[in-house]
Amino acid sequence: MSTGVNRECGECRVCCIAPKITEVAKPAGTPCRHLCATGCSIHDSKPAVCREFLCAWRVMPEIDESWRPDRIGLLGIFGLTDTGKRAVQFIPFRNVLGFPSIGKELRRLASVFEVWIGLSGEWPPSRRLRLNDLPNRSAWRKIGALQTT
Ligand code: SF4
Ligand code: SF4
Repeated sequence: MSTGVNRECGECRVCCIAPKITEVAKPAGTPCRHLCATGCSIHDSKPAVCREFLCAWRVMPEIDESWRPDRIGLLGIFGLTDTGKRAVQFIPFRNVLGFPSIGKELRRLASVFEVWIGLSGEWPPSRRLRLNDLPNRSAWRKIGALQTT
């Protein structure tokens, strides 16, 4: 059985930019209005969803150390499918899905847990796109990336 990891965010701020966060009225792809140079400006009063959030990279040993979201261009959000299977929704906030090395690694991860590609920036995503349902890399390339401002 795999053991968990507990990686540190470092300079990454992607989860304050890429996903939609209803509790702070933040649309997908837009930096939170509370984000400042040192991180969160309302640290002591930020909502539970922010306090408790850990992206998939921080806790899942199956995801490579080098895949910190700001470095790789993908934010992984962990969840469960309707049938209780582990799933990670990867939100591409840069146009990286067409890179062969990324496609290869996503395919490997899809053999370990369910992999979804999400452009809505929501969890659970309003439109589920299972990696294994996409025919090939050129189909992934067409998906593009979440537009960030
Ligand atoms: S996306 Fe992950 S690594 Fe980046 S700041 Fe959020 S929790 Fe930390
Ligand atoms: S409230 Fe703070 S932790 Fe939550 S998204 Fe905004 S800046 Fe990030």
